[in-house]
Amino acid sequence: MGILSASGNRNRNIVLAVYLLISVIILLFSILFLIQAIQAYSFYQYERGFSLLLTGVVGLALSLYMLSVYMKRPGLIRRRELRKMVTVVECISCDYRNKREYSYGDYVLKEHGECPVCGKKVVVTEIYPEVVGKK
Ligand SMILES: [Zn+2]
Repeated sequence: MGILSASGNRNRNIVLAVYLLISVIILLFSILFLIQAIQAYSFYQYERGFSLLLTGVVGLALSLYMLSVYMKRPGLIRRRELRKMVTVVECISCDYRNKREYSYGDYVLKEHGECPVCGKKVVVTEIYPEVVGKK
């Protein structure tokens, strides 16, 4: 679905809202058709009942498919991931390595004080966004 993977903006939200609305309307109509089908069968109107049943089942399948696409759209999953920037610092001579929250002005190879293990220089080696969980 091309429309659903478009980049996030206000128009996209409107498109998604309309899409959801159409899915729900089809779902409601399908349920209505199914109820009418049951009524038709109870009045022994088999031909009318069958066409209503068919329309209802096809509509139900279509609306459920549309809703599943809506739920699985990529934007929704991305928004649920929480990320924070982390900075990894390493000692230039021993195995000391520490990860901490990124602070403004960090850059790779920046000196970061003394090693608590051996007293040599500690430098920033990595800066990256880390997934910390889902909303
Ligand atoms: Zn060290």
